Amino acid sequence: MILIDGKAVSAQIRAEVKARSCALEKTYGVVPTLAVILVGSDPASQVYVRNKVKACEESGIKSLAHYLPETASQEEVEALVKRLAKDDSVHGILVQLPLPKGLDAQAVMRLIPTDKDVDGFSAENVGRLSMQQEGTIACTPLGVMELLKRYHIPTAGKRAVVVGRSNIVGKPMAMLLMNANATVTVCHSKTQDLKEECRRADILVAALGKPKFITADMVKEGAVVIDVGMDRDENGKLCGDVDFEAVKDKVSFITPVPGGVGPMTVTMLMSNACTLCERALRE
Ligand code: NAP
Repeated sequence: MILIDGKAVSAQIRAEVKARSCALEKTYGVVPTLAVILVGSDPASQVYVRNKVKACEESGIKSLAHYLPETASQEEVEALVKRLAKDDSVHGILVQLPLPKGLDAQAVMRLIPTDKDVDGFSAENVGRLSMQQEGTIACTPLGVMELLKRYHIPTAGKRAVVVGRSNIVGKPMAMLLMNANATVTVCHSKTQDLKEECRRADILVAALGKPKFITADMVKEGAVVIDVGMDRDENGKLCGDVDFEAVKDKVSFITPVPGGVGPMTVTMLMSNACTLCERALRE
């Protein structure tokens, strides 16, 4: 079994992003800039934003953090996004979700121009992914593809099973694997005989948000297992959707939690921010 080291791959990609950013500064005098908007004081969101700002520092990306109070109105949030949308020195805009109750997140997100949609959540970017056109791809599934690539794990002709069909993980994950010529099955809470579906997978991606849900009897001998889950076990300890201890001796490759897919998400955000800047300068 080979343990996929998301931390090491992350560090490597951050160094690459930093080099790309330095090259942009040298050639064009421009530093890739990411605007991050946090509304309210949700503790988890504060941690996420802090991590993103720190990752920017490590990756040569300039971060502009905008903090709005819990009481901010829809108009105030929208006015900020509109201002950043028009600002040529800003290459990516990220609105930390969820927004406080009473605010219409969809309406806010729609104001982010496609070419600044660093998260790749917009309908336009989702459409571009499905049509294999240039666009921005959601960071978590993009990070998974990067792990597969850097561990030289082939996807073409392989049977891939994705458990979970959310807009930000499961669906783009399935699309990316299909674009990479895997034969893809998407499972969800209404799937009948999930165990049998999973057992057919050469590449199994668990993204359902249920601690240690994927057990050894659901995994084929020699499969590649990618655990996207970020859950808490019965003792409140961070764990994944896969029962790692039970599954690890059966597989060829596996991502641990923590230290697998997790670090890749913020790293791919850095890469996306840099890419948006490169594209803006190319145009
Ligand atoms: P989500 O929006 O809650 O979606 C969960 C998906 O799993 C849904 O499609 C749901 O099916 C399916 N599901 C739930 N229970 C199931 C079951 N018993 N059997 C089969 N399918 C089931 O979650 P998400 O945002 O995609 O996140 C999934 C997990 O990834 C969470 O643990 C989250 O914390 C983690 N995550 C990690 C990162 C990272 O950076 N590593 C980033 C994002 C998310 P239905 O559609 O039928 O309801």
